[in-house]
Amino acid sequence: MTDVRLAGIGMTSARTRDRLVQRLREQGIINPSVLERIRNVPRHIFVDEALGSRAYEDTALPIGFGQTISQPYIVARMTEALLEAGEVSNVLEVGTGCGYQTAVLAPLVARVNTIERIAPLSTRARQRLKELGIRNVRFRHGDGSLGWKTHAPFDGILVAAAPLTVPEALIKQLRVGGRLLVPIGQEGKQELVRFTRRDQRVERESLGAVAFVPLLGGVA
Ligand code: SAH
Repeated sequence: MTDVRLAGIGMTSARTRDRLVQRLREQGIINPSVLERIRNVPRHIFVDEALGSRAYEDTALPIGFGQTISQPYIVARMTEALLEAGEVSNVLEVGTGCGYQTAVLAPLVARVNTIERIAPLSTRARQRLKELGIRNVRFRHGDGSLGWKTHAPFDGILVAAAPLTVPEALIKQLRVGGRLLVPIGQEGKQELVRFTRRDQRVERESLGAVAFVPLLGGVA
């Protein structure tokens, strides 16, 4: 990929990205490292070229296979809420999609393990992150609701698709003190929930209403 394509011009330029960062600040995102990632990750390379001019709008956009790239505000909010756990080194991401959330998060932690159930999305995300020089990510094609036992326990787990109830396997794969960020509920009625695993119990906090695609079982 050429430097010009990565840096962006016109509607994908630095000024357009600054406007997005400003908007997220106004909506309450305060972590400077997260805002820096939103400014630096070229979101336009994660969507179809025809949608490139809309890449720095704060909206979800289609990425094929009936899926969407998450809204920048949500990516920033989830990343920020995850990092509040203190030392966050080993992370599991469920729902790689196009890899945008992965690219925002990866340089802020030691390792991201990411699972996607639609094979071509996983393959393309892997290629994009390689082009961006991001190397601390393990990709897997599979059902993320089962977690990824080999690399557990995780300091944090981010789920980018909504189950109806929290997948127990994910809670089990958190270390004590670790956090699971997951949208829960039916389409149109979801809330973003942060679970924190304690010694003998699991804490649950609601972080507000959100809209995600459903978490599905099996692979495609
Ligand atoms: N994180 C992406 C958003 C992806 S949308 C971004 O940054 O834009 C949610 C993704 O979750 C979709 O690609 C969908 O295929 C995937 N998904 C849904 N159920 C899943 C499951 N059980 N395991 C893994 N991925 C799943």
